[in-house]
Amino acid sequence: MDETKILLSEKDMPTQWYNIQADLPFQIPPPLHPGTGQPIGPADLAPLFPMELIKQEVTTERWIDIPEEVQDVYKLWRPSPLYRARRWEKALDTPAKIYYKWEGVSPPGSHKPNTAVPQAYYNKQEGTKRIATETGAGQWGSALSFACNLFDIECKVYMVRISYDQKPYRRILMETWGGKCVPSPSPDTQAGRDMLAKDPDSPGSLGLAISEAVEDAVSRDDTHYALGSVLNHVMLHQTVIGQETKKQLEMAGDYPDILIGCVGGGSNFAGFFLPFVKDKLDGKPTRIICVEPQACPTLSRAPYAYDFGDVAGLTPLLKMYTLGHGFIPPPIHAGGLRYHGMAPIICALYNHKLLEAVALHQNEVFEAAISFARAEGFVVAPETAHAVKTTMDEALKCKESGEAKVIVFNNSGHGHFDLASYERYLSGGLKDYSYPEEKIQEALESLPKVSS
Ligand SMILES: *Cc1c(COP(=O)(O)O)cnc(C)c1O
Repeated sequence: MDETKILLSEKDMPTQWYNIQADLPFQIPPPLHPGTGQPIGPADLAPLFPMELIKQEVTTERWIDIPEEVQDVYKLWRPSPLYRARRWEKALDTPAKIYYKWEGVSPPGSHKPNTAVPQAYYNKQEGTKRIATETGAGQWGSALSFACNLFDIECKVYMVRISYDQKPYRRILMETWGGKCVPSPSPDTQAGRDMLAKDPDSPGSLGLAISEAVEDAVSRDDTHYALGSVLNHVMLHQTVIGQETKKQLEMAGDYPDILIGCVGGGSNFAGFFLPFVKDKLDGKPTRIICVEPQACPTLSRAPYAYDFGDVAGLTPLLKMYTLGHGFIPPPIHAGGLRYHGMAPIICALYNHKLLEAVALHQNEVFEAAISFARAEGFVVAPETAHAVKTTMDEALKCKESGEAKVIVFNNSGHGHFDLASYERYLSGGLKDYSYPEEKIQEALESLPKVSS
């Protein structure tokens, strides 16, 4: 078999999402109510999400049907191609077989519409007129604007101020699809006004933008909230990626020795590797490596504890590796990898030693992305470039050892709106930065106390 692209036809597209909670020999620690310390119930989440998504958050059923209307939209770009990186293998002179699943083919250019579309759909079904959300560098805001437009829902996006100022292109994308985007902190919410009173020049943070979007949603009857990562239902929707990948690898006659992906809140990588976890539990020796920035080393260096998802403490408490909900991210270029926490599903699997974690500096990451672009052509997102670098390292280890391992990484999106970061790298202006140990200690002290 000497194909470069391994393609599925539309009739081979998954018709169900896969729920890992059906197959785990342990439980994912439940979200807790910040007031009582008890697990939250559906009623606590009802102001934020449609009931179908709340059910998906807690269900232990193995397979969830993908509604036909959602499948119809998925067909705009799914099934996505799996590539064999033959040119890059040659450039690296490695005996390893490198594959990548290419999620950059969606209209917004990343994996994020895999969940934005069903989230908009279920909201429409339950009568939601308007959705409020936050976005960092704009990938999620643009994916949700794209999805809301298809289901005729108004979309309000609170975009972290520094990105709003520095990266206008995704805002324009949101507006093209009819979304309304404001810089966060904004004067539209109490959380935003409080921050502006403290610091009128605040660059904002993802945690603060979440506070604004949640406040917006709970203060209006016609509005729900949507989250682009972290929660169980988001991981669930993303499993279309891994299910397709598994079929495509079968067509190629290979099974992965190593799976690699970048992790911000964890959704692209979870969606990619979760369909392989059951095999691993049953004894397959596949290594699963999560890659994150040294500037936001959630899995590799932070404590595993209950924490809020946002700055203001409006969300339920989630058990996760966390740099503290007050985390102000250092200004690195992988905007989507700057969240203080991580999906509870990923955290539980990591805690049970089913996953590995690696933290990288941004210069080495861009260096690898350029090696990839010069061999394969695709210019990947700075987030994805983290996965590219670890793939390159593993492929070079194979060169040393002479092993022909099968390495598969999730190519979560393109970098066409991130060329300013490439320019910074190419002109030598990128700085490496490790998150300081004392800040992690400080974060530990600020964690909310829970009795359980
Ligand atoms: C948002 C984003 C990420 C990080 O989010 P996850 O939930 O960890 O997947 C990674 N890659 C791209 C291209 C993104 O847009």
